[in-house]
Amino acid sequence: MLNDANAALVQRDQDHLIHPLHSRAAHTDARVWVRGEGAMLYDANDRGYLDALSGLWNNTAGNGRRELIDAATEQMQTLAYASSYAGSSNPRAIELAEKLSEITYPSINRFYFTSGGGESSDSNFKMARYYWKLKGKPDKTKVIARQLGYHGVTLAAMSATGISKYWPMFEPRVPGFSHIPSPYPYRYQRPEGAPAEVTQGQAAADELEQAIVREGPDTVGMFMAEPVQGAGGVIVPQDDYFPRIREICDRYDVLLVADEVITGFGRTGTMFGLEHWNVEPDMIQFAKAITSGYFPLGGIGISDEIAEVMDEAGGAWMHAYTYSAHPVGCAVGCAMLDLVQREDFPGQAAVKGERMIKGLEAALGGHPHVGEVRGLGLMAAVEIVADKATREEFDPGEKVGARIHDAAVERGMFSRMRDEVFCLAPPIITTEAEIDRIVEIVHDSVTEVLG
Ligand code: PMP
Repeated sequence: MLNDANAALVQRDQDHLIHPLHSRAAHTDARVWVRGEGAMLYDANDRGYLDALSGLWNNTAGNGRRELIDAATEQMQTLAYASSYAGSSNPRAIELAEKLSEITYPSINRFYFTSGGGESSDSNFKMARYYWKLKGKPDKTKVIARQLGYHGVTLAAMSATGISKYWPMFEPRVPGFSHIPSPYPYRYQRPEGAPAEVTQGQAAADELEQAIVREGPDTVGMFMAEPVQGAGGVIVPQDDYFPRIREICDRYDVLLVADEVITGFGRTGTMFGLEHWNVEPDMIQFAKAITSGYFPLGGIGISDEIAEVMDEAGGAWMHAYTYSAHPVGCAVGCAMLDLVQREDFPGQAAVKGERMIKGLEAALGGHPHVGEVRGLGLMAAVEIVADKATREEFDPGEKVGARIHDAAVERGMFSRMRDEVFCLAPPIITTEAEIDRIVEIVHDSVTEVLG
C-alpha cells in the first residue's frame, strides 16, 4: 500500500512486538494510534476515530487535559521517583490517600497503591489472607468470584477472572478460586427448585451462599465482584442483588471486595458503583480512571476494621511494588480527582449515559437481532442474538461481533466486543453530538451486517 503510513508501521510492529491478547492474524489491519484530542483518536494516516471505550475504559477525561499534563510535568521536575517502602513516603501519595478517603465509601479510609488493576486484585487477595490469619482464621483463604467477571491476568487474578477463555493456555489455575454464575438479568436461569417468591436477583445472590456452604465457610475469605461487570459485557445486576450479597457475606464472615477498576470515579453515574444499591464493601480496588490512563496507577482501599487489625498486629506487611505510590502517578491522580469533582463526572456520566442508552434503544430496540440494550451511567452494551425469541447466540464461526465492530471502525469509531456484545464506554467528556454519532454508528454497523 503506497503512502500508507499506518500499514508501514504495522509491518514493523509485527517483527518485534508482542501485544496483550497477541494474535498476528487479528493484528494485520491494526491501527497505530498517533495522537488524541478529547474523545477522538487519530491513526498514523491521521484518520480520526471516536474512542467509544475510553481507551480501555480508563480515559474518562479524554486526551489533552492540561491539568493532568501539568501535574505530571511538574512532579517529574520536582521529584520523578522515590521509594515508598515503609520508612519513606511522598506528599502526593499522602494527598491522594486523603482525597480517596473523602470520596470512597465511608468505612474505607486506608489505601495501598499499585500500578494497575491486576496488581490490585493480588494485593486484595493477600490483604484478605493476612487479615484472616491475624483474626485467628488462617484457613479462610478461598476466593469466590463470578462467571464473566474480569479481575486481571496475573496468575491469581486470572484465576479469579471468570471469562474462561483466559485460562486454558496457562492452567493449572491457582487453587482455591471458584466462580458462581453472573446475575446477568438477560440470561440468568434460576436453579430448579428455587422458591417462586425469590426474585431473579435474590436467586443469583443465593448462589453465593450455596457456594460458601459447599466450600466450607471456615475456608472462604472473600467474595470479589465488579458492581457492573465490564469486560464480561456490561452486566448490570438486579437492584436486590448486592444488598442480598452483603447479607450473605455478613452471615458467613466473608469479606465483600468491590472491584471498582471500571466503575470507580463516576463511570456509572455515582462516584463508586455499589452506591447505587447503598451497599458498603469491606475492601475496594481501583485503577484506570484514577489517572484517566495518563499514568499507570491502581490501588486498594480497606475498611477501618481491617486497618485496625493490621495496626494492632504491628508487624510488616511483606507486600511491595517498586512503583507503589509513584509520585508522578499520585500527582496525576490528585489532579484527576479534582477534575472529577469540579466537573461532576458522576453527574455528567448519568446524563450522557441516559442519552446514549435511550438513543440505542430507540435506534436498535426493535431490531430482530438486538436481544437487549442495557447499561448504567455512561457504560452500555448492545447484545446481538441469532434469535430474539429464544435468545440463542450466533455460531462463533460466523464472527458476527467482529464483523459489526469492523463496520464501526470503517465508520470512524473504535471499541471492543465481548463475543456478540458491543461494549460502549466513551470518555465522560464526550460531547452530546459525539454521543449521538456513536449511537448512529452502532445502528448503521448492526444493520449493515444483519440487515
Ligand atoms: N479489574 C477490572 C474490573 C478490570 O476491568 C480490569 C481491566 N480491564 C482489571 C481488573 C485489570 O486491570 P489491569 O489490566 O490494569 O491489570
